Amino acid sequence: MNRATRIIGDVSNRIVRPSPDLPFAEWAEHYLALPDGTPFRWHPYQRTIAEDMFRPGVSELYLRLFSGFGKTFTLGAGFSYALVEHAGSCGAMFPNESDGKSWLTNELKPTIGYDEDTDGTGVQRFHVQGIRSVRDIAGFTKFANGASIQIIGQSFSKLRRAQLDVAFADEVDALDDSSASEGDRLRAFFGRTRQRVMQRHWAASYPSVVGKSRIDECVDISQSLYWLFTCSACSALWRPHTQDLGFKRNRHGDVTHAWLTCPHCGERFDDRERRAMSTAGAWHVEGDEEHDWRPDDPATRRTYRAYSSSCMIQLGLCDENFPDYIHEVASKLAAVRRSQNPSASLRVIANQLDGESFRDESAIKPEPSELMQRREPYRPFEMLPDGVQLVTAGVDPNADFISVEIVGWGANDECWALHYEKINGNILQTDVWRALDRILTRRFRHPDGRTLPVAVTCVDTNHKPTTCRRWCAPRRSRGVIPIIGSNQLDTPLLGPRVKGKDVLRIGVNEAKETIYSRLSLVVDEGEDGFPQGYQHFPISEHYQARYFAGLVAEESELKKGRTGQFFRAYFLPPGAARPEPLDCRVYAMAAEQLRRFHYDSDDDETEEEEKPVERQPAPDLSTLARQRNRQRRTRKKRFIGA
Ligand SMILES: [Zn+2]
Repeated sequence: MNRATRIIGDVSNRIVRPSPDLPFAEWAEHYLALPDGTPFRWHPYQRTIAEDMFRPGVSELYLRLFSGFGKTFTLGAGFSYALVEHAGSCGAMFPNESDGKSWLTNELKPTIGYDEDTDGTGVQRFHVQGIRSVRDIAGFTKFANGASIQIIGQSFSKLRRAQLDVAFADEVDALDDSSASEGDRLRAFFGRTRQRVMQRHWAASYPSVVGKSRIDECVDISQSLYWLFTCSACSALWRPHTQDLGFKRNRHGDVTHAWLTCPHCGERFDDRERRAMSTAGAWHVEGDEEHDWRPDDPATRRTYRAYSSSCMIQLGLCDENFPDYIHEVASKLAAVRRSQNPSASLRVIANQLDGESFRDESAIKPEPSELMQRREPYRPFEMLPDGVQLVTAGVDPNADFISVEIVGWGANDECWALHYEKINGNILQTDVWRALDRILTRRFRHPDGRTLPVAVTCVDTNHKPTTCRRWCAPRRSRGVIPIIGSNQLDTPLLGPRVKGKDVLRIGVNEAKETIYSRLSLVVDEGEDGFPQGYQHFPISEHYQARYFAGLVAEESELKKGRTGQFFRAYFLPPGAARPEPLDCRVYAMAAEQLRRFHYDSDDDETEEEEKPVERQPAPDLSTLARQRNRQRRTRKKRFIGA
């Protein structure tokens, strides 16, 4: 169900009645219509949820669903029913109020149908199926029949004043209760229905990270249901997942074939067959009947129900750029490998397409000794490795020394360490800068006869900013760029310019995540070439144990960003080696991004058949690398009783 669906049934002259004739699921099909006038029909997997939304025995309903399920429409229709048929007070709680207001304006109002109407006061009013709003201010709408919609954000005082029949909490994984002395916002919100008759409690979210997910917690205390397919070839019950999706790409990376494979018999299905199995599917309870009842509150005997599903059950329309839905999803999976930060892309796939929380394999990174051992015998100052097409540098000035690294870049994000040096000397004096200039103006011989200069250099200006900026300014034509590292979790690798200054912000967390995951890549035996993003180091006096200890000095953890999304945050643990090698590599990588161009690639034209990337348990790139030519393996059963 997409947002184009509108409620346009003619109920404008109906009288609000205390006991409606039709239960919600039927009411919606009776009164709602699609824009072209055809009657609205639930998708099979939406219908049960719609039936549960107002079912007396179901006190709480949790939705842990993929993006594109039609959640906003389903809930919007539920709000509409409560407003029209029960004159209900509907509350929606969001991690912050501005998200809530934009949901109200951009998603809910179009879904439930409204007329723009000014009555001379310039205030926009809207009606839901004939009930005019009598008050419509940001985040609060009151209707002529006494019904209301209100949006609740972070404010506990607003939450405490609310009296609700329907309480819907969205994006509960992004709720931040850590600093709130008032306690659990979700429970407090659901508590606002206490005096009322209806007492509908709904919560939804993309899941976030295993062990930190609020919606996972909700599912754990509930009767948990999954939409299962019955394989049309072998009749086995099967919980479809993007891991069952296979595809072929051409050399441009475009997906040319996609199919869904039954994990029991190996039969391949196209999108038409997938849709047929989804249409014939059903929700099944996972686990035993004990989950039917809330274990810690047996006296109430009220059911908590949770619905979980991956996007493989989707029956809505697909993006018009793709022939069908599985091609659309396959393209998203294929894009992960080409993404700058594959780990972060994998989190998005897990959360939004699989509807699963992401397992944090806390910072996979190699040991310094492993990196030492895999050094290769090339001598950058004599001859560049053949693959190098661009040379950049990263410079990290400190009080009494400057660290610099020069890195060569080629196709497929492959890179070669060329030179690392720590130049001792006070940075307020010129000697040390002169030495730096000598290093940065060296040219490198390429096997094709050219000599390559350092094309772009990023210089950190965190320490003695004025001195550093002054040094950079006259060297601009040589590609010397002043930068400053940003620890903000969501700053992209190339962040915004610092206000009023000619200094570029660099998202260091994202850069470090990319570097560490690429350092973990392993070369696949029996495969030509190196995996995408492989980082080479030369056997040289500049790349010794101390360098590698510094390169992998930092540790990381997943932290919640301002929008509720999780990001990997890096920090230097006590007693760790000095991290200048890592910092220099971050800046050299930013420099490469500034001068990104189309590298010549000698990929052949054959189509490559592959499985989508594996999300659980390992988010590391070594899995991706190893997976390429591997035969399909039988997958463990994920579902009890399947
Ligand atoms: Zn089968």
